[in-house]
Amino acid sequence: MRYVSTRGNAPAIGFEDVVLTGLAPDGGLYVPEHVPQFSHDELAAMSGLSYAEIAVRVMRPFVGEAIDDDVFAAIVHETYASFNHDAVVPLVQLSHDHHLLELFHGPTLAFKDIALQLLGRLLDHFLGRRGEQGVIMGATSGDTGSAAIEGCRACDNLDIFILHPHERVSEVQRRQMTTVGAANVHNIAIRGDFDDAQAMVKASFADQAFLQGTRLIAVNSINWARIMAQIVYYVAAGVALGAPHRAVSFTVPSANFGNLFAGYMAYRMGLPVAQFVIATNANDILHRTMADNDFSRRALQATLAPSMDIVVSSNFERLLFEAYGRDSDRLARLLADFAEGKARIDDEALEALRNLFSSHTVDDETILEVIREAHAHTGQLLDPHTACGYRAAQVCRADAATPMITLATAHPAKFEAAIVKAGFEGAPLPEAMHDLMTREEHYDVLDAELETVQAYVAAKRH
Ligand SMILES: *Cc1c(COP(=O)(O)O)cnc(C)c1O
Repeated sequence: MRYVSTRGNAPAIGFEDVVLTGLAPDGGLYVPEHVPQFSHDELAAMSGLSYAEIAVRVMRPFVGEAIDDDVFAAIVHETYASFNHDAVVPLVQLSHDHHLLELFHGPTLAFKDIALQLLGRLLDHFLGRRGEQGVIMGATSGDTGSAAIEGCRACDNLDIFILHPHERVSEVQRRQMTTVGAANVHNIAIRGDFDDAQAMVKASFADQAFLQGTRLIAVNSINWARIMAQIVYYVAAGVALGAPHRAVSFTVPSANFGNLFAGYMAYRMGLPVAQFVIATNANDILHRTMADNDFSRRALQATLAPSMDIVVSSNFERLLFEAYGRDSDRLARLLADFAEGKARIDDEALEALRNLFSSHTVDDETILEVIREAHAHTGQLLDPHTACGYRAAQVCRADAATPMITLATAHPAKFEAAIVKAGFEGAPLPEAMHDLMTREEHYDVLDAELETVQAYVAAKRH
């Protein structure tokens, strides 16, 4: 399989390079040159398979010749054996036609583990084969950092440096990053805010000389391997609820749109999906775009669902590329308008998207109301992100006969403050993390100065 850039000005590359590269050199995002197809019979044959078995079948066509079949299967089985639930992504029934897909049974209790546990192993495999050592650098305001660290802690060929804003992440979030205790994991608390940490990382990618030839790797949500890994659970949940014999619908708490784009890929590959519902918090660029064709930036708002606090939805570019019939020139013009402040999606393209996608925005007050309501009606304690999905599913669902699957993107214990605000005593951490608050922490506090950070990284890497 080869991959092309959405901006159309970069050479097509293979899977290994896509995983190691991240962003295309023309500033675009890589997408597969063609979308692999599953026949009705191939989907039907997945019913009853384990999650890892389905994962191998769904991802195989994207990997192509880059990894031998038996090696790839071994990597995938090892990846999902590390989850704390035998079903990996269990489905919980909320009502006769509404289901919750629990994506939070990985080591850091949020759905990003599903992709990052695989990405770490894929990177380690490719680097090992090349005899290279790689350095991952990333900035985090919470979730992604810990999921990336957990995905890399066992990797021989990778050092990972995660920058977080000093004293501006929750204690649970910090401890998930700082108590790992692996020699290749390095935590830096930056004296500054998230933007300062992000700026250090961006500047380091722009000028990699400080690593003297060592490859610097990004694991942010534009990496194709993350999308690929997320396609699997849409197929697994769909097949578990009767696809391909009947259609299913999905509601997805969304920010950068990586999760939802994976669902769209599952649909394009042949999974019968009647409807996708995009759920946003008050940072509603996706909803404004879908509902009012208002594709524009607005100031960031801090909400009770912080992992969805974004200004720009980076993976939305991949959907627009498809909506524009893969016409990179038209897409580039749209994105240039957007960079100026505000753009309008072509009417025909937007109409086509509206046939498949609906959207709804959920404010903080409603998040608290939903947490109480869902608990009263179903006994489930939802985290604030999943609560956005729950309400959007109720408001937007088009057809009562098609099962609705709402993606539960985080465990409630991860966002206990919101749970308490909703009137509950708390949300206990699962058994696997019971000693989190007493484990030894490892991190260094550095000034927000590029030279200081780069010298630290160069000195600590292996
Ligand atoms: C990252 C995240 C999201 C948003 O996912 P996108 O792929 O960026 O749309 C939603 N919920 C939680 C808990 C997250 O960590």
